Amino acid sequence: MKLYDGYIFDMDGVIYRGDEIIKDAITAINILKSKGCKVMFITNNSSKLAEEYVAKLKEIGVSPVADDEVMTSGDIAISYLKKELEQNPQKNNVLCVCGDAVKTLLRRAGFRIIDPKEYKKADYVIVGITTDFDWKLGNYASNAIAVYGAKFIATNPDIAKPVPNGEIFAGTGAIVKFIETASQTEPQIMGKPYPKMFEIAIQKMGLDKSKVLMVGDLLNTDIKGALDFGIDSAFVLTGLHKREDIQRFRITPTYVIESLMELVN
Ligand SMILES: [Mg+2]
Repeated sequence: MKLYDGYIFDMDGVIYRGDEIIKDAITAINILKSKGCKVMFITNNSSKLAEEYVAKLKEIGVSPVADDEVMTSGDIAISYLKKELEQNPQKNNVLCVCGDAVKTLLRRAGFRIIDPKEYKKADYVIVGITTDFDWKLGNYASNAIAVYGAKFIATNPDIAKPVPNGEIFAGTGAIVKFIETASQTEPQIMGKPYPKMFEIAIQKMGLDKSKVLMVGDLLNTDIKGALDFGIDSAFVLTGLHKREDIQRFRITPTYVIESLMELVN
């Protein structure tokens, strides 16, 4: 395969599967880094801060990763909200339907996290993954949006993911659907497959998008996002989706690879 100037890697299913490390992937990434290629690591999972992912990557043997080489869908949401705040500094009340990592990012960016009972004051409702979701919180959020004009932001659209015991873990997208249905309002979604994450990753690398390859294990987020954004993609078979899924989703990646070592060979 030709060498690209920049690579964007999805993490879960590409570099590791939960706690299991995909060794070849780490070797390949380190080779690309040693050749001077730029790399970014992105994830729709907003449950951790970028610096926590940096620590994890370091721990599993990826050569030094800077904090700004990792982006979560939470970071994308915050960069969007920061721009909004610059334009409307008085609009800083956020009703959070999300976990602690996104709340930390909001506080760092100068937002005020309101008690959900103060929903009438909300300027924004932000939805990310949280296990504390219930009807009451969903109803406050829906009212803030539908009745009181709060903007509806979601970190990512992922509906559910499989977990090791064969069950599923309901995702951010499932919470989004509750609020979207009740408020009859569509959210602005930040993570893959929507273009913002790709746009910001490429901006950070300072490269032309024709020189960048997206590497991911999910056709409907990683690969679809790359296609829609107009960058090349490598679909790696170490994650959730299998080769047969290309037909099912009707999403055709630039490359289908079994190991990240194919990127450097
Ligand atoms: Mg993945």
